[in-house]
Amino acid sequence: MGTETVGRQPGKQYDILIIGGGPAGMAAAAAGAEYGASVCLIERNNKLGGILKQCIHDGFGIVQFNERLTGPEYAYRYRNLVKSYGSKVTVLTSAYASKISYHPEKSAADLFTTEIITAQNGALCLTSSTLILAMGCREKSDRQVFIHGDRPAGILTAGQAQYFINIQGLMPCKRCVILGSGDIGLIMARRLVLEGAEVEGVYEIRNEPSGLKRNIVQCLDDFSIPLHLQTTVTEVHGRERVESITVCKVDDDQKEIPGTERTIECDSLIVSVGLIPENDILSFSQIFLDPHTGGPEVDQNMQTRIPGLFSCGNALHVCDLVDYVSESGETAGTYAAKVSRKQIPYRTVEIQSSGNLVYQIPHFITLPDIQNKSSTIMKIPVYFRVAKSTEKAELVIRCGNTVLFRKRYSNLSPPEMKRAEISLSAVAKAALSSPLIECIMTDLGDTDGLR
Ligand SMILES: Cc1cc2nc3c(=O)[nH]c(=O)nc-3n(C[C@H](O)[C@H](O)[C@H](O)COP(=O)(O)OP(=O)(O)OC[C@H]3O[C@@H](n4cnc5c(N)ncnc54)[C@H](O)[C@@H]3O)c2cc1C
Repeated sequence: MGTETVGRQPGKQYDILIIGGGPAGMAAAAAGAEYGASVCLIERNNKLGGILKQCIHDGFGIVQFNERLTGPEYAYRYRNLVKSYGSKVTVLTSAYASKISYHPEKSAADLFTTEIITAQNGALCLTSSTLILAMGCREKSDRQVFIHGDRPAGILTAGQAQYFINIQGLMPCKRCVILGSGDIGLIMARRLVLEGAEVEGVYEIRNEPSGLKRNIVQCLDDFSIPLHLQTTVTEVHGRERVESITVCKVDDDQKEIPGTERTIECDSLIVSVGLIPENDILSFSQIFLDPHTGGPEVDQNMQTRIPGLFSCGNALHVCDLVDYVSESGETAGTYAAKVSRKQIPYRTVEIQSSGNLVYQIPHFITLPDIQNKSSTIMKIPVYFRVAKSTEKAELVIRCGNTVLFRKRYSNLSPPEMKRAEISLSAVAKAALSSPLIECIMTDLGDTDGLR
């Protein structure tokens, strides 16, 4: 495996150490260097770019660049941006971060220790005053869904199928069934058909698809691939290789309906049943993980409840637009550069979601030193997802009696992450009389029209 070390050879101490060289980590590295910090970017693969390298379809960068780029094109732009900072950013590829430790008793420069195994420099132990977690997410596999039968060759995740076809130029199957209607599965259904495979159908246990509506239309409908809702795969048949699978309809409680079983001949089962933020490296007992996102709780600067520890991109919460991944990386890098120089005095205001919302990011807001006027004019992005599909709904974000944001929406669904903005100065004022910000999503029903 090749190793790429850009800038100087690894030192021992950095202002910012970033784990993960995908779009989030690259944006964080560039932003940190822009604000004058010394940065070390650690990537376990032999190239920067993260998962984007295998996403060869277009549609990336609409928000950041106002262009429809492919994944590799998007990654290439950020890779060049990182390179443009020269020796300010040390990039270690083929370098695996195996352990991190937090030392609040040590000086600000040595708050974090990261143990790394590298192809070029062996084992390294680097210290840093801030640490940014940008490890992305991983796919849930067939082990995380209940299916009877053996596990012969031919069962793979949609991401593995994507890697085989787009990176290695290998066809993983001739006739397959896809379990789960997540976006990667939908994109792979189209890709497999374009490469000459037959996709018998996509099977989804829930009563609505997990992927974006536009992917249902562009990847399934346009290619006449059937989507079977409230149906799941119950058994795999075959010893050496998948020979067939059994599907079965389920009721509203997702229980199998006897007598609805059907056996489908195929040589592969492709699983697309969701993504989990990759945070296994986190072992601090003080870290707060949000059970809905699987990532740490953060403030508007992407800083966790441990000062100096940041999280961004899909390691924080699974984003459907890479542009928001880069935005969160940039925020983390910028603020880490400021924190690494001087701890900024702060107090925090908690944020809570209610009504038809699963979660919101950030979890709390750090109010800066009120003397620091430049930071109080800042707009804070608030990302959120609804719990269930709704045709008409209204989001109100308020702190006490002050309404910080109000908007009516049509056709919201859980796969689509949304973004609102609130003003930091309005929060700072309102928080003088209330300690809590509430995000309330109210369904308006059919009778209340959108104005
Ligand atoms: C299989 C798959 C396919 C996807 N396809 C699409 C798509 O088609 N369209 C779309 O919009 N979004 C897609 N996504 C979502 C996509 O992940 C995000 O849009 C975006 O790439 C996330 O950026 P990131 O930097 O947070 O994570 P990633 O791009 O996943 O980058 C994280 C990086 O961290 C590295 N890393 C992790 N742990 C360590 C460690 N311990 N030490 C060193 N390095 C480490 C990884 O090797 C990786 O390079 C896909 C996701 C997956 C998992």
